[in-house]
Amino acid sequence: MKKEKNFENYPVGIVFSSNLVSILIYLIGAFIIYQLGLIWLILYLIFIGIQEFRLIIRHCTDCYYYGKTCAFGKGMISSIFFKKGNPKKFCNKQMTWKDIIPNFLISLIPAIMGIIILIRNFNWTLLALVILLFILTFFGNGVIRSQLACKYCRQREIGCPAQKLFEKRK
Ligand code: SF4
Repeated sequence: MKKEKNFENYPVGIVFSSNLVSILIYLIGAFIIYQLGLIWLILYLIFIGIQEFRLIIRHCTDCYYYGKTCAFGKGMISSIFFKKGNPKKFCNKQMTWKDIIPNFLISLIPAIMGIIILIRNFNWTLLALVILLFILTFFGNGVIRSQLACKYCRQREIGCPAQKLFEKRK
């Protein structure tokens, strides 16, 4: 079997594309939540911030890409603010579907809110944004992970609990 090429540092184009999908999800989610009021928008943004912070302090510090440019550029960001962790811990972590629920909620909460608002007060722009949110979450993230991020990841070869979890699904 042909061995996949992997990157020591990912090219800028991949980092840009990977982040573009996440940023678009956050922006669309924020716009939908804002329809409920400013306080809900602030809570939603805090929730996103917590998820990002949790990732760079708990996972990126133990990752092979700590201090390097990973597919999302977070290995580099993590090394600026936090001390290197233990790479063995990364491989030995056990991940279940429960662990990815908080991440999933970043899309699911605005999607559900968007559908409720649409039922009460239909609006084509909002409908388009809810559809786009679903496409980016399921298709966009899937393409980024399978074709750009995980495909060329050295951590995947060493051992990645998220990758193992997604492979179980196949
Ligand atoms: S295999 Fe995918 S999920 Fe795992 S560390 Fe690499 S890019 Fe991240």
